[in-house]
Amino acid sequence: MLAARNIDSTNATVEPLPLVPTTCTIPRGGCLEFIKLSKWPMRSNPSFGLVVKPNSVATISSYSRCFWFDVKVLVMEHLIKEIEQDALNTAFMTGVKRIDDRVLEALRSVDRRSFVRAEDIKNAYVDYPLDIGFGQTISQPFIVALITHLTEPKPSDKVLEVGSGSGYQAAVLAKLCNRVFGIEVIPALCDQSKKNLAAEKIDNVILMVGDGNLGLPHEAPFDKIIVSAASSKLPTILLEQLAVGGILVMPKQISPYEQMLIKINKTSDTEFTIKDILPVRFVPLINL
Ligand code: SAH
Repeated sequence: MLAARNIDSTNATVEPLPLVPTTCTIPRGGCLEFIKLSKWPMRSNPSFGLVVKPNSVATISSYSRCFWFDVKVLVMEHLIKEIEQDALNTAFMTGVKRIDDRVLEALRSVDRRSFVRAEDIKNAYVDYPLDIGFGQTISQPFIVALITHLTEPKPSDKVLEVGSGSGYQAAVLAKLCNRVFGIEVIPALCDQSKKNLAAEKIDNVILMVGDGNLGLPHEAPFDKIIVSAASSKLPTILLEQLAVGGILVMPKQISPYEQMLIKINKTSDTEFTIKDILPVRFVPLINL
C-alpha cells in the first residue's frame, strides 16, 4: 500500500509519482479508493473517487491513468496537516503551538464520516464545521483537536460533554480517557449519535438526553468537562461537579456577536483560574 507520506498533500502535484499496481487486496474494513490526480482534494474541492468493497480484490488495469491510494489515510493526513497549521497560526492567542500527538492519533482513529450526514460524507475530512440537522453543527476538526488538547486528557479521566451533538467530540475523547458521558438536549440527535458511536465501535461513551446545564450530579465529580455550546454565564452547577484539579473548557458568549473559548482550572473547592484561549463561534447553549 502506498504510504500517505509519499505525497505532499498540500500541493496539487504529487511527487514522487506512485507506481500503479494492477490488483490490490482491500484490507479488512479498509477503504481503498481510486483517485485521479486532477481530483486531488484541495481545501475547497475535496471530491474524490469511489469506495470499493472491503476484503475483495480490485482490478484496476482499466484505470491505468489513475493512481490508487488508501484515500482515507491520505485525506486524513491532509486534515492533520491543516490542524497542525491552524495550531501554528493561532498559537499567538492560544499558546498552543503543537497539538499533543496523542490527540492527533485519536483524531486519526475516529472516522468523521460516521458522524456527518450522508450528503456531507465527501466533506467529512475538511476542516470546517458541518450541519448535523436541527440547526446544530459538528465542530471544525481543528477546534475539536484544540479543545481536546486543552483538557489535557489522561487514560484515567472521567469526562462530561454538555451538548454531545453528533457524538464526534465525545468519540475523540473516548480514545484518550476512561469514560465519557454526553448530554444532548435534542432526542433525535442523541439517538443518531448513539448509532454513530456504535458504527465506530466505541463503547466507553454514555449518551443521554437531558439539560446539560444541570450536569450529572450522580456521576460527579468529573476530571474534565467540555461545554460544546456557548453561554454568557459561567456554569456554576458544572463547576461544582468538576473535581479539584479538573479542567472545564467552554465557549463563553462575551457580546451578542463575540464568543471566547475559555479554559477553567479548578484549583480548590472554591478557587478557579480562567484563561481566554481563542475567539470561536458555537451554537448557543439552550436554557430550558
Ligand atoms: N460536540 C458536538 C457538537 C455540538 S453542537 C459534536 O461533536 O457533534 C452543540 C450541541 O449542544 C447541539 O447538539 C445542541 O443541541 C446541544 N445543546 C444545546 N443546549 C443544550 C443543553 N442545554 N443541554 C444539552 N445539550 C445542549
